[in-house]
Amino acid sequence: MSATKTLFDKVWDSHVVHKIQDGPDVLFIDRHMVHEVTSPVAFLGIKNRNIPVMHPEKTFATADHNTPTINQHLPVADPLSANQLKMLEENANEHGISYWGLGHAKNGIVHVVGPEYGITQPGATIVCGDSHTSTHGAFGAIAFGIGTSEVEMVLATQCIMQPKPKRMRININGTMSKGVTPKDVALFIISQLTTSGATGYFVEYAGEIFREMSMEGRMTVCNLSIEMGARGGMIAPDEKTFEYVKDREFTPKGADWDKAMAYWETLYTDEDAIFDKELTFDGSLIEPMITYGTNPGMGMGISNDIPMANAVQGGATTYQKSLKYMDFNEGDSMMGKPIDFVFLGSCTNGRIEDFRAFASIVKGRKKADNVTAWLVPGSHKVESAIKEEGILDILTESGFQLREPGCSACLAMNDDKVPAGKLAVSTSNRNFEGRQGPGSRTLLASPLVAAAAAVTGKVTDPRELMVELV
Ligand code: SF4
Repeated sequence: MSATKTLFDKVWDSHVVHKIQDGPDVLFIDRHMVHEVTSPVAFLGIKNRNIPVMHPEKTFATADHNTPTINQHLPVADPLSANQLKMLEENANEHGISYWGLGHAKNGIVHVVGPEYGITQPGATIVCGDSHTSTHGAFGAIAFGIGTSEVEMVLATQCIMQPKPKRMRININGTMSKGVTPKDVALFIISQLTTSGATGYFVEYAGEIFREMSMEGRMTVCNLSIEMGARGGMIAPDEKTFEYVKDREFTPKGADWDKAMAYWETLYTDEDAIFDKELTFDGSLIEPMITYGTNPGMGMGISNDIPMANAVQGGATTYQKSLKYMDFNEGDSMMGKPIDFVFLGSCTNGRIEDFRAFASIVKGRKKADNVTAWLVPGSHKVESAIKEEGILDILTESGFQLREPGCSACLAMNDDKVPAGKLAVSTSNRNFEGRQGPGSRTLLASPLVAAAAAVTGKVTDPRELMVELV
């Protein structure tokens, strides 16, 4: 076997505590993030078996999926949501787990607060009962979503059984063109690979495009790895990563920092390491993206027309059914289509950089009358930065309101639901039928595209409104 290793192999192999012959590996988990939706049954499971949480100090709980994004100081009206939030709080308190519930200064979306407080670290294994746990791979961690029974397994043992995925590397060189953001890069990759193109793989993103990205941008890219079927995505940590992580609440300090750095600096793919699959794209060819169908792979450059059924992979019937749901036709241009809702937020695009981008377009303009806009910070920390940087003033002057942190319209599990038939430009991660509310229609896009739609009331190329490059 080759002595050279990929980044993924280095992190995976260093966490294997037991190898099952012809079966999965047993991996030690460094960080377990829990939220109100997938944890109640898991906590009940360990309670019924009279098992304590093995490592409460490695377990972190935040409320996000079911939380309202206005009037969070009031009791939660929906009885199911209120009960799930209460159970999370009780379970966290019973087991001595850090709990950042509604109203807590550190509350926010699980994949936003993890990095913000240094829970997310390079070379760690991180799991959570949410598919977009892949976000944390931006730090060179192996991070993936798990199901409820696996949440119970990790609570009880701090380990998980997992078959080792194959390794894929996606290289993109060149520089991002005007109006192109990390979200566009991710949507471009998914449009090329389709939603099943990375099934069975763990992806490493490499190349100039990713090296130049901020940590926020890398999180957006890794977040969307799951949408092409990958178990997760990761980017080798570098100076930018170490700088981001340093001095956060849960990161090592003093001699422990030096020890951690000695490990983190080994986290890169060795020169001759072999991948099971390797793909390369030219980053300069990517333009602002938008989806037109009912999965994230149905995306295209915003200036293109919706492809004809005979030009796409997969069955024409499914493709046409998807367009019918969206009320679009083959060959349509997306530009100029009137929209009803804009959602800026989620663990994909609810960070400060996303609000800066949005504000750069809406500054000096007014929200279109036909648009309902939900601008939802990913956390209280993001909310504070929006205020401190003067972004809130820009948004307010343009007729927008800022909501309180939460998952919001990423999924139809709280009050922020897009009504049936309405068309939403959304910075979230899934455009499945009904994802944002029964009958809702979703166009996935970047914060720049969302902002351009918010002020024009229709799908608009943000490059037309960019006075200065963001
Ligand atoms: S924003 Fe969406 S994808 Fe992210 S944690 Fe919340 S529900 Fe999951």
